[in-house]
Amino acid sequence: MKPYILIIEDDPQIRRFLRATLTAEGYLYYEAVTAADGLNQVDARRPDLILLDLGLPDRDGLEVIRRVRESSQMPIVVLSARGEEKDKIAALDLGADDYVAKPFGVGELLARIRAALRRSSAVTADGTVLHFGRIEIDLEKRVVKVAGEEVHLTPNEYRLLQVFLRYPGKVLTQRQLLNEVWGPNHLDQAQYLRVYIAQLRRKLEADPARPKHLQTEPGIGYRLVID
Ligand code: CA
Repeated sequence: MKPYILIIEDDPQIRRFLRATLTAEGYLYYEAVTAADGLNQVDARRPDLILLDLGLPDRDGLEVIRRVRESSQMPIVVLSARGEEKDKIAALDLGADDYVAKPFGVGELLARIRAALRRSSAVTADGTVLHFGRIEIDLEKRVVKVAGEEVHLTPNEYRLLQVFLRYPGKVLTQRQLLNEVWGPNHLDQAQYLRVYIAQLRRKLEADPARPKHLQTEPGIGYRLVID
């Protein structure tokens, strides 16, 4: 079964580029030029993933994310214009999975699409043991091993790791991570997060200065890469 991707984008040149790219990779697609038509197609066609432009003629793309998330966790990858950092963060805070900055390359776009589709089909059940790289995590016993050696995590470190494990590959904003681990009264305490990320990297990464798994998204947040 080939995945269906819904393109919501008003720029005809970008739509042409996306059509060609998706077709060459064997994806099927639907297209919408407005937010209203996009939302209709989300309901009517239930695509496997949405590629969403934020600057749409009738409504803000952020509104599309909010509406879709009221009823569905289908992956949303945002196509953001360069330098619109605030929009990117707002989109991720509303539940978008990822973003690619325009102008984007074919390779990057396809990698983001693959990661988002993989994530939506790879639900980790309780009682399973996760492996990635040298890291092994027993979700039931809450035991973390690196290269076969058990590593002790503090409760907050483990909670932070759990949030990442719930959304592997997804960009998580600082605000989302602070909210999940420390609660809504600590949303502006980015220094907590930096300290805990550094600790997790020291405990889990082979080279904490060049992390393979806990990657920084500059100015936005972090992402757990597990492949
Ligand atoms: Ca646009």
